[in-house]
Amino acid sequence: MTQWVYSFGAGHNEGRADMRNLLGGKGANLAEMASIGLPVPPGFTITTEVCTHYYENGNQYPPELAGQVKAALARVEQAVGLKFGDTEKPLLVSVRSGARVSMPGMMDTVLNLGLNDATVEGLARASGDPRFAWDSYRRFIQMFGGVVLGVDHHRFEEIIEAVKLDRGVIEDTALTAEDWKEVIAGYKEAVQDATGAPFPQDPEAQLWAAIGAVFGSWMNQRAITYRKLHDIPAEWGTAVNVQAMVFGNMGEDCATGVCFTRDPSTGENVFYGEYLVNAQGEDVVAGIRTPQPMSKARAKPGEKPMEEVMPAAYAELVRVREVLEKHYKDMQDIEFTVQQNRLYMLQTRNGKRTAAASLKIAVDMCREGLIDEREAIKRVAPGSLDQLLHPTLDPKAPRKLLSKGLPASPGAASGIVVFSADEAELRAREGESVILVRIETSPEDIHGMHAAKGILTTRGGMTSHAAVVARGMGRPCVAGAGGITVDYTAQALSAGGHIIRAGETITLDGATGEVFVGAVAMIEPQLSGDFATLMEWADKVRRMKVRANAETPLDAETARKFGAEGIGLCRTEHMFFDPERIGAVRQMIMAEHEEGRRAALSRLLPFQRQDFTELFRIMAGLPVTIRLLDPPLHEFLPHTEEEIAEVAEGLGVEVAAMQRRAQDLAEANPMLGHRGCRLGISYPEIYEMQARAIFEAAVAVAKETGRAPVPEIMIPLVMTKRELDITRAEVERMAEAVFAEAGMRLEYLVGTMIELPRAALTANQIAESADFFSFGTNDLTQTVFGLSRDDAGKFLPAYVEKNILPKDPFVSLDPDGVGALVEIAAQKGRGVKNALKLGICGEHGGDPASIQFCETVGLDYVSCSPYRVPVARLAAAQAALHAGGVDRTA
Ligand code: PEP
Ligand code: MG
Repeated sequence: MTQWVYSFGAGHNEGRADMRNLLGGKGANLAEMASIGLPVPPGFTITTEVCTHYYENGNQYPPELAGQVKAALARVEQAVGLKFGDTEKPLLVSVRSGARVSMPGMMDTVLNLGLNDATVEGLARASGDPRFAWDSYRRFIQMFGGVVLGVDHHRFEEIIEAVKLDRGVIEDTALTAEDWKEVIAGYKEAVQDATGAPFPQDPEAQLWAAIGAVFGSWMNQRAITYRKLHDIPAEWGTAVNVQAMVFGNMGEDCATGVCFTRDPSTGENVFYGEYLVNAQGEDVVAGIRTPQPMSKARAKPGEKPMEEVMPAAYAELVRVREVLEKHYKDMQDIEFTVQQNRLYMLQTRNGKRTAAASLKIAVDMCREGLIDEREAIKRVAPGSLDQLLHPTLDPKAPRKLLSKGLPASPGAASGIVVFSADEAELRAREGESVILVRIETSPEDIHGMHAAKGILTTRGGMTSHAAVVARGMGRPCVAGAGGITVDYTAQALSAGGHIIRAGETITLDGATGEVFVGAVAMIEPQLSGDFATLMEWADKVRRMKVRANAETPLDAETARKFGAEGIGLCRTEHMFFDPERIGAVRQMIMAEHEEGRRAALSRLLPFQRQDFTELFRIMAGLPVTIRLLDPPLHEFLPHTEEEIAEVAEGLGVEVAAMQRRAQDLAEANPMLGHRGCRLGISYPEIYEMQARAIFEAAVAVAKETGRAPVPEIMIPLVMTKRELDITRAEVERMAEAVFAEAGMRLEYLVGTMIELPRAALTANQIAESADFFSFGTNDLTQTVFGLSRDDAGKFLPAYVEKNILPKDPFVSLDPDGVGALVEIAAQKGRGVKNALKLGICGEHGGDPASIQFCETVGLDYVSCSPYRVPVARLAAAQAALHAGGVDRTA
């Protein structure tokens, strides 16, 4: 026979904490607490399987249920020496829901069940406290009336208010037994009016109606919505817990409270919570009376901490707190009741906490010997570290939402609105905090992005230029805020009828994508020693290396500070936008002949060499992957007449010829146009200059420091082996030339990005010419999905909302499509070359779920923007632990 009912308490515990799927979280933990000797009022749990059965069988219970409930109830009666429905010594019970995972406030609870016109008299006599008995009865009618019978709770409140007004009292506690009787008469009338039937007097009928209501609440709209939001399957069902009542409302030696075993916002190891004397659970939440603090240490003047008011019960609670933490090995969120100075535990579960608390608790518990380092590593969500590395909005600060876009780069920033990069730089130099607002950004805006405290764009997705660059710089960014219209001419932006002009202040929250009017107060990040400690532990267990995507010395230094083990992607084009260089770059592109290009390139060579020298110095001895020029040329084209004239002058040609050339070079879909190694094939002298700069810099640093860097030269957007062969030969030729000039040789690697489907599918051929592969999953996602990186931001959020895609594939690697190609390429590549080095440098390299995927495919490293390096280190450690773990200390 199926066991549908599990008893707990009074020495008869049929459940355990690990039975939460069957008993729900609350039921499983009540049984667990009772079995480790904690004071839990006896009761029983009706399993989640009954809920499933109920919904699968036209709202019918299994036939054996009634008998099993009866037997379990008899056991409770015996344990507490009371009888359900008895007019002398009535047993009262609570009926509560309890799903596998907590769904706070979503389902229903009924307390004091078993009271009726006769048993209330018995309770009054047995307790010697008529006021308490009648108060409990009115509470029962109110909860049962609301939850089970569907009577509007306002009706009940109006009745109490009327009586209080009549008696001239403010607090509920000032009402007498006689007053409550009057309230109850009113309540019963309200029930009769609303339901057409009197309030049910039969305790057994009350019990089954309450059980039915809890099961019914599993399918209420609130619960359905909550499940949808949190991915909870409807099949899980809820359990129902029926438990002997203990009373926190029996007098001044009674209380009820909710607390955390540590501070859930800071993680500090102090008892944290609130309690109320002479009250029942719902009073603490309802906010009618002000709950008081637990410990003396946390009490403000005038407050009455439990430690002082109920020292014996408090001492017992402190003991329970220790037992619970030792047992569960995690911070607990508990509910308790004190009845006549005796403590009873009503619930425990792992407590929710902030990112900062999560970090501190994990490290502290490991030091206290409750958990080991591996467990501590698993306890912190890598993504939450973002919150610890950037300023965040003060949750208590008032704010006015203007609009919402994509959360493109975390952190919060306030500043005055400017609409151009030059203006941003100018105003920042004057000491102002600025927010750069653009329809979209281009590489030409880099200096303004750098000068700005935050960046807002109205177009573009999570891998748009603005998003990628902002993340790299650690600037907060909201991208693709389509609800905002930008008018450069009027120097104003508008959203929902609100107009903000240049010079007015806005605030961005890059973690949520929200944009606010005016300044919102912030909290600065505090990188405590715990952060470094956890990182150290993570580094011991991870297998994959973590590198950074970085090109400026500042980014490279930041990356080192966060623990990057090299550079996985240096996007050389980002080095070309300095005002000193852009002119030469434009001349190089616009030149119609090789000679003109070479002249321009020779002006660029010293800059590039200097850039690489600095990177090699900062990364002393660590691998540095430098990608040769990749972006669509149109990004560098001169736009204005003035710019065109400037280039024409530099090249010594006619302005009209330059205009024609600009037209020739213009592309409609630049992402798939003349870019990547196609440039290196068309204009070999570009890659030649870059390779020369790299080798000259490496030689210089080797001579200067005695530590030779190992450059890894990366060819972008390869689709055939032939492209790699040609460009590789150019690089090798340059290496030989520089080595001959310098009189020394250096080790170096030449590899390619795998960012086109054809490259992935022919990876075995390409691997023959490559020393390494780096998966460019931004472009790979774009080309596998046929989605434009820059334009998908307009509709991708709706796709995610409608569940057509589980996540934005530019944020979290799509394992089925893009991931399948990565896996194929990894296998095909390693099939040809066992030691082929594999890494990822798309934005996914900083996303915990994608990092987990990289571990399963066996990549050697992930590379991400500098500020995400700690996230990646922790995620890589968790991925390694998940896969069995490699202990690098062993
Ligand atoms: C990529 O495509 O994943 C990549 C890293 O290159 P980029 O974003 O510069 O195109
Ligand atoms: Mg790419």
